[in-house]
Amino acid sequence: MAQAFRRLGSEVVLMQRGPRLLPGTEPFAGERVAAAMQEEGIDVRLGYRLESVASAANDRIELRAGDGTLVVDELLVATGRRPNTAAIGADVVGLEPGEPLVVDDTGLVQGVAGQWLYAAGDVTGRAPLTHQGKYAGRIVGAVIGARAAGAEPDTRPWGEHVTTADHVAVPQVVFTDPEVAAVGRTEEQARADGVDVRVVDIPIAVAGSSLQADGYDGAARMVVDTARGVLVGVTFVGQDVAEMVHAATVAIVGEVPLDRLWHVVPSFPTMSEVWLRLLETYRS
Ligand SMILES: Cc1cc2nc3c(=O)[nH]c(=O)nc-3n(C[C@H](O)[C@H](O)[C@H](O)COP(=O)(O)OP(=O)(O)OC[C@H]3O[C@@H](n4cnc5c(N)ncnc54)[C@H](O)[C@@H]3O)c2cc1C
Repeated sequence: MAQAFRRLGSEVVLMQRGPRLLPGTEPFAGERVAAAMQEEGIDVRLGYRLESVASAANDRIELRAGDGTLVVDELLVATGRRPNTAAIGADVVGLEPGEPLVVDDTGLVQGVAGQWLYAAGDVTGRAPLTHQGKYAGRIVGAVIGARAAGAEPDTRPWGEHVTTADHVAVPQVVFTDPEVAAVGRTEEQARADGVDVRVVDIPIAVAGSSLQADGYDGAARMVVDTARGVLVGVTFVGQDVAEMVHAATVAIVGEVPLDRLWHVVPSFPTMSEVWLRLLETYRS
């Protein structure tokens, strides 16, 4: 997690984690963001464990860490988030306060005897993102409606009443400069899931990117399930890549075969020509 602060007009970012700057994303994404911060003169210190924070003279703040002391003007602490279930009465239904409400893919909370309790969003400890919370809300609403009408929910993978995307196609954008936009599994996650993968890495260097910015500097990675010939993960890093991730999400959720993606013609001159470069590289 990051502890970032401003010091006499300069900025220091302290990361307790090592080089894995952005959890759940490909390592190169965090490395590129860190490099961009360093180019801007930000002092990035990785693997930095903050031991204490105390008031210092002149309303300043003293930070103690392994390699000494820093005195700063402001401190921004980013420690991550966890489900806020401590005071919602979880114990009334036999659940542990403070723990995530573990749900199945229909949003039904597990471990509650004799009652139908549903949950959606951050409290479930699944993907703590606004869009995934909204997705879960839509599914859970449909499940409750179906059950209230006496219908059996459609719980087949990708059925109307299950949050299948939570497992394999969660998109996320890190609004840094450069932006990071990713969906699906990283190479490491896919391999851990037992998927035989091939990884394609390319720089983002197409006519559309040169229109986006002079000297555009970006990178794209796709992770391909070689047995099934489909995408399982895509990551873009660069200026304005946030809008690129939805096409990747469609390809992953739709399990579009790469042979068919080859026919998905990107308009010239747009950033989407990156898809052409990725596929050409995969086919070469
Ligand atoms: C700084 C920050 C930046 C973020 N940026 C992004 C982003 O760019 N994109 C993104 O996708 N996600 C982002 N998120 C995550 C996103 O905000 C959450 O994933 C999303 O809000 C989860 O929605 P939710 O409805 O599950 O929970 P919440 O939005 O937290 O809503 C829960 C509600 O329940 C209320 N509540 C809590 N306890 C009780 C109680 N006991 N009784 C009654 N009401 C109660 C709370 O007041 C709150 O209104 C960010 C989060 C933070 C903290």
